[in-house]
Amino acid sequence: LTEKLQRAFKHLRGQGVLTEENIGEALREIRVALLEADVNLNVVKDLIEHIRAKAVGTEVMTALSPTEQVIKIVHDELLELLGKDTARFKFASRPPTVILMAGLQGSGKTTTSGKLAVWLKKGGHRPMLVSVDVYRPAAREQLKVVAKSTETRIYEGDTKGEAAGTALVERLAKEAKREAMIMGCDTLIVDTAGRLGIDEELMQEMERLKKLLDPQEILFVADSMTGQDAVNSAQDFHRRLSITGVVLTKMDGDARGGAALSIRHVTGQPIKFIGMGEKPDAFEPFHPDRITSRILGHGDMATLLEKAEGALDRKKSEEFAKKALLGDGFTLEDFRDQLKQIKKLGSMESILKMLPSVGPFAGLQQASKSVDEKQFVRLEAIINSMTKQERIKADMINGSRRKRIAAGAGVDVQDVNALLRQYSQMSKMFKQFGKGGMAKQMMRGGM
Ligand code: GDP
Ligand code: MG
Repeated sequence: LTEKLQRAFKHLRGQGVLTEENIGEALREIRVALLEADVNLNVVKDLIEHIRAKAVGTEVMTALSPTEQVIKIVHDELLELLGKDTARFKFASRPPTVILMAGLQGSGKTTTSGKLAVWLKKGGHRPMLVSVDVYRPAAREQLKVVAKSTETRIYEGDTKGEAAGTALVERLAKEAKREAMIMGCDTLIVDTAGRLGIDEELMQEMERLKKLLDPQEILFVADSMTGQDAVNSAQDFHRRLSITGVVLTKMDGDARGGAALSIRHVTGQPIKFIGMGEKPDAFEPFHPDRITSRILGHGDMATLLEKAEGALDRKKSEEFAKKALLGDGFTLEDFRDQLKQIKKLGSMESILKMLPSVGPFAGLQQASKSVDEKQFVRLEAIINSMTKQERIKADMINGSRRKRIAAGAGVDVQDVNALLRQYSQMSKMFKQFGKGGMAKQMMRGGM
């Protein structure tokens, strides 16, 4: 999907205005891309119409390129579809809160039950697990292993000598709820049997469990890799059980954002969590904005922006820009400030990972592997060893001063030379920017 969308957006690159025509072209390609990603046909139709209505006739914003503008419109529309906020989890006013796990076999119910228990414990809750998948002995054994590895209480019950069937399922469920109450567990996670496909027997059993347990949450666990199939079964489960939310598993794989979109659209229920791996902690609340960014192929821009906004001292940047570009020149003190800002943002590698892997950013991630983190620390140490005068007037740093600075920073003279070379290159570059209109442009961009 991502690749397709990027190709669609490329058509808009470099065009000054949004016209009916270039939007039509992009929309056609976006439509194909979404369909190929297994997004439900009705969802695609709705989406495209909304985007068209919004985009055509819209004045081109000066701050955004046409491409960015269309991305923004598509992004907003996807957000609208997925629900803007991370969904909240419901708890019973009188414990235990019962969470019924529903879904097809292999979708990840048992794994997710363990993950949910870990998540609840992190939030200060006391969860208990129970498996009512009595048809496959290995299934109950699997939950036992999960309970052990996550150190979660589990109600095992006695199944000896009783035939697997609805009677046993109901007895176990009832006993587990009572046990949770007695043990002071505030949440009961009920792992259920799945089938390879929807069948009447399964649905009836789920309906009985719902009646018996009166759950606050019925979570439909969907394998994001199964695309349209997951969408159809979500719809079926919702019709019979009125699910309260969705857990999208296996999003660590080659997952298509399409499943998230479609399931949300056909059930109207929020996606509450996503599974990102087989381990118990590979689990997180669903953030619509992150998924939309992912669908759009823009890396985890949202996370990056949050991080950058928190760490970057905007005022300082502006001051720097003014000084460096418009007059006083770029001193070694400014250089040091810039190094500090970069350090505040976190490791270069983690920052670069969040950037899109396309366009001007292509290749950066590869390059990041060769970025030496220690280098920053060393550069800063060297500048720290200079006197204030030296930092402002780098020209005065002669041979003997270089030796003194190197000794002070615990580095070789070559390192000091390299830094000064780097500094002089940067300072030349800034001077060139300053001469042209570039400086003003960069500052307007809020550098
Ligand atoms: P159930 O039949 O619905 O209970 O499904 P299971 O919990 O047994 O999971 C089926 C398989 O999917 C197992 O091999 C799990 O390890 C795997 N699985 C579950 N969730 C995830 C996930 O988020 N990512 C990955 N990569 N594998 C998962
Ligand atoms: Mg299972």
